[in-house]
Amino acid sequence: MKITGIPVCPGKVLCKTRVLRPVPQFNLERKTTCSIEETRHQVFLAISQISKQLGKTAQKLSEHEAELIEVQRTMLQEDCFLEEVEHYISQGYAPEAVVLKAAKTQENLLLATGDAYMSARAEDMRDASYRIACLITGDSYPDISSLEEPVILITEELLPTMLISADLQNLCGIIMQKGTRTSHVSILASSFNIPTLVNCPEAMRLPDGEMIFLNSEKGEVTYGLETYEEQQRQADTYKEEKQQLQNYCNQSAISADGQPIVTLANIVEPIVLDQVNKYGLDGVGLFRTEFLYMNRTAPPTEEEQLAIYRIAAQKLGNKPLTIRTMDIGGDKEVDYLGLPDEQNPFMGFRAIRICLSRTQLFKTQLRAVLRASAVGNIRVMFPMIATKAELLQALELLEQCRQELAVENIPYQPEMPVGIMVEVPSAAILLDKMAKDIQFVSIGSNDLLQYTYAADRLNPNVAYLYNFMDPAVLRLISHTVQICRQMRLECSLCGEMAGDAIGLAALSALGLRKFSVSPSLGLITKKRIRLLDLASLEEAGAKMLQSDTAQQAARVLCQALPAEYLVFPQ
Ligand code: PEP
Ligand code: MG
Repeated sequence: MKITGIPVCPGKVLCKTRVLRPVPQFNLERKTTCSIEETRHQVFLAISQISKQLGKTAQKLSEHEAELIEVQRTMLQEDCFLEEVEHYISQGYAPEAVVLKAAKTQENLLLATGDAYMSARAEDMRDASYRIACLITGDSYPDISSLEEPVILITEELLPTMLISADLQNLCGIIMQKGTRTSHVSILASSFNIPTLVNCPEAMRLPDGEMIFLNSEKGEVTYGLETYEEQQRQADTYKEEKQQLQNYCNQSAISADGQPIVTLANIVEPIVLDQVNKYGLDGVGLFRTEFLYMNRTAPPTEEEQLAIYRIAAQKLGNKPLTIRTMDIGGDKEVDYLGLPDEQNPFMGFRAIRICLSRTQLFKTQLRAVLRASAVGNIRVMFPMIATKAELLQALELLEQCRQELAVENIPYQPEMPVGIMVEVPSAAILLDKMAKDIQFVSIGSNDLLQYTYAADRLNPNVAYLYNFMDPAVLRLISHTVQICRQMRLECSLCGEMAGDAIGLAALSALGLRKFSVSPSLGLITKKRIRLLDLASLEEAGAKMLQSDTAQQAARVLCQALPAEYLVFPQ
């Protein structure tokens, strides 16, 4: 039997399940017959035990993860929480209700701030209080901090704090009934490289303690089979390859004929930068900042953004951090902006189009980016530029921000490089006219494909058109690369095409030498690059551009590739 979900982190695992039941339902109004002294003793004993446990967990974690746990510990010691605890004890509530009610008051206060950081702290408070309540009542808290054996976790949903304190050695996979690809827990799962599926409606029907095969590359779970020989073989092969890829952490991305290739990462949060550094990637080619605007009730302030950009820049040292200004719209909704409902959101009010109309929102981000540029190797990039007029407007707003900061005596890097994404065909066509106003270009193949073929990137009915090997899109990419070469503009590509074996080879054949991929594909990308003889691909590049169809272009390319390049699984 098979069920499906949305892949978050690729992998193939054959393993026993561990179904995580939801947190027990507590009656918050339960009163106790015990004395106030007895209740106080029980409550404070449980608080101190959970505090100790959290402290022990923090010792096993990295600095950043330990900080999150420390936040929980601190919250349990804060006067405002302890005063509420005393209040509910004096009202005669049962010990678990005391803790949960006191925590609820704190959660509500934190949520009322409307601030993303504070809202996340409300989640921390709830997490800690449920741990305490379970300890008091003897219920099992859905805790995965110590797992007796390797398991694939099956759960309705998972809190980020649970995942960071998980027994990662034994956590071989996650299947979540709810969840989105971009939730914090998904981002963490990816950065821990745990094969994960989310939005899997039938997840909770999976049996507990039984062997299942999770193929999170394909978004599939197989279970109830009589033998698992074939799955075991697939899982073993996958594991070996993954292990071997670690050898590429310290290897540079140099092609077989000795040409250096820049390999950058696409990120949505600074937390994955530990992985980027470990994999020896050259920096960040795309920071999708729109995710900072999601799951909250107001946009992030200048200070909040500055703090995030600074952390990212510091983690990267001298390596570049390319901050893309927010690309809201299309499939990335942000309710509080009150954007109009549209018939064709991908063709509508999106990204730079919103920024040029909501200039205050845009300037807040530009100021934060500029300020961060004083402490790091930061570059700013505008998405969805369609005309030179849009670019000039964006540059004018950036200049206004520079001047404001200068007047306020706030430092920034005046030479911070500015670039655009080439993802609307008109930008590729008119690039020569924009080139002198910018320092770099990053090709956004995901959108460039959908706009070139007029085929919605989310619509499976037109997916047959969405093929990066079609000569039409190859010509647009080639044109962009050539213009950049002539105008001495740096050029890279940050769409999913670079993370695909054939896509990477095709781009290399067209002369591209800089790629930005998802961090989890960083090592395989280095491996692929080291197998490519770039000089010999040039001829194939010219032939691809003269092909009639995607199939013909792919054939030409594959003939020019070394046999081993296409052997290892893609
Ligand atoms: C792209 O369009 O290729 C791109 C990288 O941007 P996004 O996928 O965020 O639209
Ligand atoms: Mg795009």
